[in-house]
Parts: sequence; structure tokens; C-alpha cells
Amino acid sequence: MKHKHRFRYSGHNVKEIHFRCKCGERKSREATDKEKKRIKDDWDKFEKRSAQMHRIAWDFDKRFKTGPDTWKKTGFELMSAVGKWAQKHPTVIETSCDDYCAAGATLVMIPHETRGEYWGTTVYFLQQFGPPAEFFFYPGNHEEVLSALNKIKRRFREPKHRGLKFTMKPT
Ligand SMILES: [Zn+2]
Repeated sequence: MKHKHRFRYSGHNVKEIHFRCKCGERKSREATDKEKKRIKDDWDKFEKRSAQMHRIAWDFDKRFKTGPDTWKKTGFELMSAVGKWAQKHPTVIETSCDDYCAAGATLVMIPHETRGEYWGTTVYFLQQFGPPAEFFFYPGNHEEVLSALNKIKRRFREPKHRGLKFTMKPT
């Protein structure tokens, strides 16, 4: 289909501004000095915001990890160290669970947040006798997980343990 292209802004990098027509045709031009300054200011702002947003999660990484999936310590030693660290960060929340062999384990929740914004929460599963695991909840995942657990809980009552009872007279 022949037509007169109508280019709209589609993105930029530090040096160039990109445009695109509905038909897929693309064009780029060099950014003016004024635009370059705006791009740089915007990037600086983004970096500052990120540093704030991920501050506590990055601190956790620095303290306890040596790489994406490698740790300075593990097991009970890690759980204790993280427990102490969490006390210094009031937004970090620890909850309890069990690991596969019914030993006490911990879920450490680290929110990524600034004063006005919430990105999501990193969760670490720390267990006494196995490697830690990590996952991430976006705000949209909260209701999903909560409603799943509540749905299960509503269907059942917690079991009451009825212990055996004996009388003085042998039976
Ligand atoms: Zn076009």
C-alpha cells in the first residue's frame, strides 16, 4: 500500500532518536545537544531511582552472595546471619515454614520500593540443610498467592491431635 509515511517517535539511545511509521518503515536522526542533555538527565534520574528502589536487595546480595546462584554461607549459618541483617532493615520481613525434611526454614521478603513506588518483592527460601532458593513477586502476584492459600485453608480445619489417654487401672 502506497502512502505518505507518518513517523512517530519510537525510542532513543544516547546519541540518536528513532522514529517509525505504522507500515514498519524506520528513520533515525542524531539527537541535538539539548536532547542529549535531556537523555542524560533522564538516565541519571533513572539510575538514582533504581539505586533507591533496589538498595536493600543489592545490600543483601553484597553481604551474602558471590554470584547469581552462589553464596558466602548456607544453611543454619546463613539463616542466623540473615536474621541479624534483617533486624537492621525494618521493611524486610521474615516468615517461617518447613523444608522438605520438616526442619524449620525461613522465607525472607525484601520489598523493592521507594517512598512512592513499589516494584515487587524478592523472596529467599533459606533452609538449614539445603541450598537457598530465590523468587520474585510482582504486585500482581500477591493476590494470586494469598487467594490460593486462603482457598486451601478455607476448605479444611486444622487437625486436632487427640492423644491417647489411660487410667490408673490397666486396661
Ligand atoms: Zn509508512
